[in-house]
Amino acid sequence: MARDRVVLAGVSKTYASDTGPTVALSPTDLVIDPGEFVSVVGPSGCGKTTLLQLLGGFLEPSTGSLLVGADRVEGPGPERGVVFQAPTLYPWLSVRGNIEFGPKCRGVDKKTRRAAAERMLALVGLAEFGDKRPYELSGGMQQRAQIARVLVNDPRIILMDEPFGALDQLTRERLQVELLRLWREAGKTIVFVTHSVEEAVFLSTRVLVMSARPGRVIVDRRIQLPGDDDTAVRDLAVTATPEFQALKTELATAIYEAHA
Ligand code: ADP
Repeated sequence: MARDRVVLAGVSKTYASDTGPTVALSPTDLVIDPGEFVSVVGPSGCGKTTLLQLLGGFLEPSTGSLLVGADRVEGPGPERGVVFQAPTLYPWLSVRGNIEFGPKCRGVDKKTRRAAAERMLALVGLAEFGDKRPYELSGGMQQRAQIARVLVNDPRIILMDEPFGALDQLTRERLQVELLRLWREAGKTIVFVTHSVEEAVFLSTRVLVMSARPGRVIVDRRIQLPGDDDTAVRDLAVTATPEFQALKTELATAIYEAHA
């Protein structure tokens, strides 16, 4: 499993622009082990998306080295799936067609990719909606379809950039629990960017807090909640426990101080 370990050594990112360089990410050392659920929180503009895009291979580090297992990240790769903030489904394809698109591009035969798409549709609770077009689905359903479209490629690492940010509270909570179940059952590594400390604490085994510009990781906190073990899927009831509230306060204070 060490092949999936993500290792950043001195990774930084500076953007060039007309008004001069912007250091979005200061040199960062970070190791993410297989099976971790790591959330990244911090004030707007602190480099969360930059970090995720570096991990995704959409951006190149300005300095340092970024490895997944023994391999240097040199671009997007099939072992890393990315779920964006807004669903990016193809409007001219059915939901099933969208999910089959990745396997089709990889040359997976029709029967196999159809079966995989059906499994994914069931997994995200859209078994009845495979024939629909994206515009016929609610925002929450589109986001579930997008997650299915990423999962069907069986990435070992899932990178998520505020995937539930635009959803109503109820849908968001439902998808959070579904995501935790998936993470448990499929044994994935997840890196999850969010504005919400509550969401980060509820989902994660570890939370990174980033400071405002130049962005850097200022807190790296293990999250242990009542009832946690190696198999349990957290229940929303845990958010009412004193342990949860204490972690939330601790991290919110760190973010506030990072901002000041
Ligand atoms: P976050 O996701 O935490 O809001 P970002 O990673 O999007 O932060 O941005 C970090 C900083 O880098 C911000 O100051 C932002 O304005 C700047 N930035 C992001 N993308 C670019 C770009 N393509 N060119 C120049 N500056 C950028």
